[in-house]
Amino acid sequence: MQNYRAPITDMQFVLYNTLKADQFWASTPRFGGQIDRDMADAMLAEAAKVTAECIAPTNRSGDEEGAQMVDGEVKTPSAFPAAYKTFCEGGWPGIGGDPAYGGLGMPKSFSVLTDEMLYAANSSFALYPCLTAGATLAINAHASEALKQTYLPKMYSGEWAGTMCLTEPHAGSDLGLIRTRAIPLADGSYAITGTKIFITGGDQDLTENIVHLVLAKLPDAPAGSRGTSLFLVPKFQVNEDLSIGPHNGVSCGSIEHKMGIKGSATCVLNFDDARGFLVGELNHGLQSMFTMMNYERLSIGIQGIGCSEMSYQNAVSYSRERLQGKGVESPQNAAPIIVHPDVRRMLLTMKSTIEAGRALAVYLGMWLDQSSYAECAEQRRKAQGLVGLLTPVVKAFSTDLGLENTIHGQQVFGGHGYVREWGQEQLVRDVRIAQIYEGTNGIQALDLLQRKVFANKGQWLRLYFEEISSVMSDFPEANRPVLSPYVARLTGLLEDTSILTEQIIRAGEESPLSIAASATEFLHLLGYITYGFLWLRMMDAALDLQPQNPEFAEAKLATGQFFFKRILTRTDTLLSNLRQQDTDDYMGLKAASF
Ligand SMILES: Cc1cc2nc3c(=O)[nH]c(=O)nc-3n(C[C@H](O)[C@H](O)[C@H](O)COP(=O)(O)OP(=O)(O)OC[C@H]3O[C@@H](n4cnc5c(N)ncnc54)[C@H](O)[C@@H]3O)c2cc1C
Repeated sequence: MQNYRAPITDMQFVLYNTLKADQFWASTPRFGGQIDRDMADAMLAEAAKVTAECIAPTNRSGDEEGAQMVDGEVKTPSAFPAAYKTFCEGGWPGIGGDPAYGGLGMPKSFSVLTDEMLYAANSSFALYPCLTAGATLAINAHASEALKQTYLPKMYSGEWAGTMCLTEPHAGSDLGLIRTRAIPLADGSYAITGTKIFITGGDQDLTENIVHLVLAKLPDAPAGSRGTSLFLVPKFQVNEDLSIGPHNGVSCGSIEHKMGIKGSATCVLNFDDARGFLVGELNHGLQSMFTMMNYERLSIGIQGIGCSEMSYQNAVSYSRERLQGKGVESPQNAAPIIVHPDVRRMLLTMKSTIEAGRALAVYLGMWLDQSSYAECAEQRRKAQGLVGLLTPVVKAFSTDLGLENTIHGQQVFGGHGYVREWGQEQLVRDVRIAQIYEGTNGIQALDLLQRKVFANKGQWLRLYFEEISSVMSDFPEANRPVLSPYVARLTGLLEDTSILTEQIIRAGEESPLSIAASATEFLHLLGYITYGFLWLRMMDAALDLQPQNPEFAEAKLATGQFFFKRILTRTDTLLSNLRQQDTDDYMGLKAASF
């Protein structure tokens, strides 16, 4: 098994050459002085060291041992506590946290890359701090000052962890069905009672306290999702001096036995008159929770990219060593399998979609940063629209490709990919959940087409396509004929997709089912367009680098050309299917006939 090596040069290429994140940080008052290129480089190097030397080595044993319940206590795999301690000593849990409460205040456009390293090194381990980071965002955005002062510093330091408690046995995608109850108490807090299932990190032995963010309903709440409220419920109550107080009526009933991410404890949590504190407004819990869910959706998209990257590194290394079949240049001897076109098809599919996925994570991170910190209100509104549009895309598209890529990575190993020894089968198992949790990819597609496109009559999509066109119009194309066929291809795709979207909106006005029937293919179409756009930007940046670093630039150009010629063509099928959308294709068959 290959040791994980963070792809720092590629990360720097995306940050500085392609998206000019360093210029963006310098021009944004919130980040000026907080981060510059030197600091970002030093942090990337340090994160690469921690993930390679301290976290990746816990991946295999973590999978083999799994999280376990011993005498009623949840134990993470034996190597996790020491790795977590080292991780916290480096200050990583608070990397994006608000400096007013002890966070490091790094932009999301930077920390998406350290998240990628974590997921690539060990997805099970990564989930503990990534859930905590999402919980702190929701607390910082919606909780009272007293709650922020009590909980945020300890969560940023990693001493306390956070969870997201939404799912119940009968309420998964449809959170309006939840039954967990919140009864108001005389002191302004609430007694929370109910059962949540599938709670990641619901209990563990890494931190001295766990801060659960729980969706619940008051007895007189309106029916459905409009009646949910969000509560902060600590595992242990917290004394005024911030020391740990008595147990708070939260217990772990059991943990799940799963296909992958075995080192992540997935818990049934019972709340029995547990004391909770309101976060945000009553009956607006889902809105407050969305602060966390949007963050986690990006984070899970990054899980797809991180697992793909690890699988790719293993596959490249193996394909250079494994001798099978004759190569054109060595007809007498068995050649390394990397000489075979079919092996290259798999490696290039992985490489071209991983690099575009990484660029999308940073690109979305920059819009997320602008949605909070851009000085101009108009720019903040634009950023919020683009974040809304692209969040379901990064979550679902990067994880659908995550499964495709880890399967390519397994296939490169032949039978050796199917057995445990090389770690490729673990990556397939570990990435699979990313298509399911944080809202299934089917639900992400509905969110995109129903809420983010149809509901505003394509306004955000138009904004996004204008943004793409305006970036493309800045390319100095006259001097760069190598880019012009790809600019033309993308321009044509934008036109076709705009016309198609009008057609989908008209059909949706007549039949809501037609929106639901188009959703997944539409999300994939937008995903490929987005990756194509980011490949154009990377190819443009590579041309600038050609004089100084021709080998690196040529590799980027060849990979981008592969993407346009062999992967972007998948949009032909998607466009054709979407144009002739007929809900009867799905609904024509009677349910009884399945
Ligand atoms: C390992 C693991 C960790 C998890 N961690 C957490 C966590 O930390 N916190 C938490 O709250 N939850 C967590 N979950 C729960 C997870 O988010 C849910 O499993 C997921 O949202 C789907 O809900 P469900 O399993 O009830 O499936 P269902 O909602 O029953 O869906 C079943 C199928 O029907 C489809 N479907 C449902 N409704 C529609 C619709 N309206 N239109 C089209 N298709 C639809 C879905 O896409 C899916 O394919 C975790 C789950 C797992 C397995």
